[in-house]
Amino acid sequence: MPGFKKYRVGSKFKLSAIDSADTAFLEGHEDAQRERLDTLAAELDDLQNLLHAEGRRKLLLVLQGMDTSGKDGTIRWVFSRTSPLGVRVTAFKVPSEDERARDFLWRCHAVVPRSGEIMVWNRSHYEDVLVPVVEGWIDPAETRRRYAQIDDFERLLTETGTVIVKCMLHIGEDVQRERLQARIDEPDKRWKFRLDDLDVRKKWSDYQRAYEKALAATSSAHAPWHVVPADSKRHRNLMIAQLLVNTLREMKLKPPPGDPALEGLVVK
Ligand code: AMP
Ligand code: MG
Repeated sequence: MPGFKKYRVGSKFKLSAIDSADTAFLEGHEDAQRERLDTLAAELDDLQNLLHAEGRRKLLLVLQGMDTSGKDGTIRWVFSRTSPLGVRVTAFKVPSEDERARDFLWRCHAVVPRSGEIMVWNRSHYEDVLVPVVEGWIDPAETRRRYAQIDDFERLLTETGTVIVKCMLHIGEDVQRERLQARIDEPDKRWKFRLDDLDVRKKWSDYQRAYEKALAATSSAHAPWHVVPADSKRHRNLMIAQLLVNTLREMKLKPPPGDPALEGLVVK
């Protein structure tokens, strides 16, 4: 199995150095890949159960990526076998008036995972450095302040028992064109398409640059970023499922010892 190191973001990170069409985690033929994903999804369920049994730590999965990069599909497949009891998902949309009246981390802090839980963020606090930078709403000094605030926030979470996994779903510009076109052409996908999506697409290079800078500035030892080549949907799913399983295995989760006073107790 390939390692994750190549995909982990360091300070000299170049987004263009990672090929969105890379399929390093796709091994074997199609059936074997499907089976592997199912096995990982089932192991994720076992590990989540242990996380709940331990009841101390929690896991936050942050998913970022351009439109059509597959954030929704990742959640559907990677969590296909996990109990809804232990996994929560939040999708971050354009901030409401109520949210805009607070600092940008307010709405995020309200939905961090509870002990024993896996929480998935479909988009995240990173939208508040990507969109304003591309739109020119904030200057470089404010952008740097936000990177530092994000780092402090993530340190607070990790120091209070949250393991953070951050994935940027990396697709090519042509793949996005095909997927947006399919949303227009296929009637049952059209609901996903909004005309504004084309305005964002026109700013593709600005977004790639904003991602590159934001990822390099906020990939830390406590909350590293991984870039996931996502032109292939199955590759994307397998890589993220494997990353989550590895992360949870490394946590060495154990249920708490039972009360010794219960030893030998017989239920009548
Ligand atoms: P979707 O994920 O396709 O449903 O779209 C959600 C939209 O909300 C995207 O265009 C995001 O860029 C936008 N969005 C989410 N959070 C923010 C934010 N903090 N500031 C500006 N736009 C945001
Ligand atoms: Mg959309």
